[in-house]
Amino acid sequence: MSSDIKRPSKKPAALLLTNIRQLLTLRGSATGPRRGTDLSNLGIVEDASVFCLNGKIVSVGKTKEAVRDPWIRKNRKKIVEIDCAGKVVLPGFVDSHTHPVFISPRLVDFEKRTTGASYEEIAAAGGGIQSSLRDVRQAGKSQLAEKVLQFLRTIAMQGTTTVEVKSGYGLTLDSELKSLEAIRDAASHWPGTVVSTLLGAHIVPREFRNRRKQYVELVCREMIPQAAKKKLAQFVDVFTERGAFTAGETRKIFDAARNHNLGTRAHVCQLSRTALLELLELDPASFDHLDCVSDADIRYLARRNTIATLVPGANHFLGLRNFPPARKLIDSGVPVALATDFNPGTSPTVSMPFVMSLACTHMKMSPAESIAASTINGAWALGLQDRKGSIEPGKDADLACFDVPDYREIPYWIAANKVVFTVLNGVPVTGCEIAPTGDS
Ligand SMILES: [Zn+2]
Repeated sequence: MSSDIKRPSKKPAALLLTNIRQLLTLRGSATGPRRGTDLSNLGIVEDASVFCLNGKIVSVGKTKEAVRDPWIRKNRKKIVEIDCAGKVVLPGFVDSHTHPVFISPRLVDFEKRTTGASYEEIAAAGGGIQSSLRDVRQAGKSQLAEKVLQFLRTIAMQGTTTVEVKSGYGLTLDSELKSLEAIRDAASHWPGTVVSTLLGAHIVPREFRNRRKQYVELVCREMIPQAAKKKLAQFVDVFTERGAFTAGETRKIFDAARNHNLGTRAHVCQLSRTALLELLELDPASFDHLDCVSDADIRYLARRNTIATLVPGANHFLGLRNFPPARKLIDSGVPVALATDFNPGTSPTVSMPFVMSLACTHMKMSPAESIAASTINGAWALGLQDRKGSIEPGKDADLACFDVPDYREIPYWIAANKVVFTVLNGVPVTGCEIAPTGDS
């Protein structure tokens, strides 16, 4: 990493947020991800406070109770205090699906699409994922790490405190490992939480076009074992789609991941339908997209803890008329999460509030459902439900404060950023500085 990258700001030992107009605790999800009407239950406390010590949440309640607490009274001078009068505080967003390890935006593809070219037509003409491969293969690790760190800093300013980051624009053994190392290096300079995913099975790269079986073997026999051995990834993802990988190939890759104790997740049913039952048997953490999921698979998903992660930013950016069937999924009891799918080809947005806005307008999710899907169910999608996604004693101190008096304004103001500050594992951040506070 270059020398101008600074270490994360120091964590204040004790942090007290007071006078919060609406505190969305999302408490009480210990038994499973949120489903059905439970997705609307935000556990709101008014005139609230949150007290954090050493990066963990210690107490949650009314401000008047917190300021009467004997320990807080005695140590008040040592506590960093932030007055949140008139504001909303919620758990930091858990963005469970992003692809930030790339060098350049895909502006030619973007422009082509304005003349009517589809995602698949652009890919067939050499655009799409193929066009990001050359840059990433040539880039140094530190250059990639800088890109990822810029992304991490930006998302913190949008209220995101935990993020899943995928490789997948190298598609050689070396460049996939280099991408994962870049994610690790960037994460070590950011106070939030990063979960790494190996997406060696993003597409079959051109040089393997007539040898796809060998490419799947490269993923299973080299990429997965090495990523696991070097502890560079927690999950393995597959783009299961026509033009990418079949369900059978996905199953093989999932088996290899499982043999190396890595979790699994897949992009499915974005452009074409894949039958999910066989893959569900391997208990993937998440199936993402699900635009054209079948009714039968919706019934199977409703009985499982595999999260349906919806990414409407991609539908929006591709100019599609249809969006994922959120209402049908939620009303059938499928646990649903929202994520940005940040990537240069189909969803160049870092904003969870924008995604929530799309979910409300185009997928008819309620503002409350969009918040639970972006916090506690995002945490379930990453296996972090014990630490993330709700504001409860014992959980990590991950918070986002919005300059709005009512949480419904978060998805309401389209493409606005109303974040005042975020707290990432106990570290308050606004801009690149520590948030304005009282005595510290
Ligand atoms: Zn994706």
